[in-house]
Amino acid sequence: RTPRMNVILFGPPGAGKGTQAQMLVSEFGMVQLSTGDMLRAAIAAESELGLKAKSIMDAGQLVSDDIMIGMISERMDAPDCANGVILDGFPRTVAQAEALDQMFADKNIALDSVIEIAVDEAALFARIENRAAETGGSRSDDNAEVLAERLKVYHANTAPILPYYKDKNKLVTIDGMQSIDKVSEDIRSVMQGNT
Ligand code: AMP
Repeated sequence: RTPRMNVILFGPPGAGKGTQAQMLVSEFGMVQLSTGDMLRAAIAAESELGLKAKSIMDAGQLVSDDIMIGMISERMDAPDCANGVILDGFPRTVAQAEALDQMFADKNIALDSVIEIAVDEAALFARIENRAAETGGSRSDDNAEVLAERLKVYHANTAPILPYYKDKNKLVTIDGMQSIDKVSEDIRSVMQGNT
């Protein structure tokens, strides 16, 4: 058990962040903070935020930094987060990364690692198609057209975060084209190297 570690899982849509986050939840007792899941919960609840977010998500675009930063900041105040958190899908812009730094400083939380799951993008299309089939199409953004847009947004807005964390010596890159089990093993080593 690795207590009180706080990590960011980083990578393009379909890289396997959610799958690996679940492994960390069950093996390390950490809490998964998936901003995508939070937004989908807001959509299911038909809240004002959900209604606003849905069209943005369906277009493969990003919900505004202010909303996302507020959402994560509020969630981080819950007591369960003291067990350590896995950020999955946040930060997605340099502004979010900077706000997260400030937030962690204010809340006295240390960021241990940013774990990048690197994948071959051609493979992502097949993966998203599989996910759409497995989830019965419950995610309206799981299709080739929206994925292409999400990848564009990833390159334009999200990938530029990588040098930010590299400069801070926080970045660890893992080969996400390996089997799920091998990727998990590599992530476990990162976690153990951090203790
Ligand atoms: P995900 O489940 O992480 O792939 O997120 C699904 C969609 O939710 C994204 O394509 C965005 O539209 C939105 N979203 C999730 N997290 C963020 C974030 N940190 N910043 C902006 N938009 C987000």
